[in-house]
Amino acid sequence: MSRDFTFEALVLRRYPVGESHRSVTFLTKERGLLSALAHGAAKSQNRLKLLTTPIRHVRLKAYHDPVADSWKVTDLEPLNLLGGLGELLERSAAATVWTELLLASWESGGVFDLFAQAFALLDTADSATVARLEGQTLWRSLEIAGLMPEFSRCSVCGKPLAGKPIWFSVIDGEPVCQSCRAGITSSGELSLPSVAIDSLLATLVLPLDEALASPVSAVAAAGLRTHGLKAWERALGRRLRSVVIDQSSGPAPY
Ligand SMILES: [Zn+2]
Repeated sequence: MSRDFTFEALVLRRYPVGESHRSVTFLTKERGLLSALAHGAAKSQNRLKLLTTPIRHVRLKAYHDPVADSWKVTDLEPLNLLGGLGELLERSAAATVWTELLLASWESGGVFDLFAQAFALLDTADSATVARLEGQTLWRSLEIAGLMPEFSRCSVCGKPLAGKPIWFSVIDGEPVCQSCRAGITSSGELSLPSVAIDSLLATLVLPLDEALASPVSAVAAAGLRTHGLKAWERALGRRLRSVVIDQSSGPAPY
């Protein structure tokens, strides 16, 4: 059996190994997270240095050593250098959170296409678009992970939630209505407005780039981002270290 493999991958993280090598963690489309040693990738003249700097979208050629069960990078080809991610504070902040999320949770590559497209859109997004893109990407990844709540009814009393603001239970992350929230939602937590839920449900079925073009208020976009992050934190059972809540762009839940 061949020990040489080709993957479509996102470069998520790199560590120095000795003076001239790097250990690189990729999210691959074909088999989720994968760490591989890139020989010589820390040397300034090496093209692997450029291509192993997060975040890149690459074609990864790798050799698998079956005895040590380890991977070695044999070649990288750029598919998208994503050089714009560092050019706007909002872009790099979103990219950092997504990277932490991907490193924390994805054993399979099921989310690869979503994030490859999301990073490409983020690469050129203005500040307002970044906010919408963050909400879309978070909720789409929750859906792929099977963590999308059932928004139609309160999970406690069963009353329809259409047109009403909702909160999320700290026990199971399911939506609850205003009357049922006492004791099972975080104190001081703000609701997700119904306009935000309507906007989300109407746009999730669209291709990501089209969803970004549909109008959504800044408050709704901020609510979707905040509650999407909180839903991920509940699922992971911990805070995301890289999350910065922007006090100016909407309600801060913490
Ligand atoms: Zn209720």
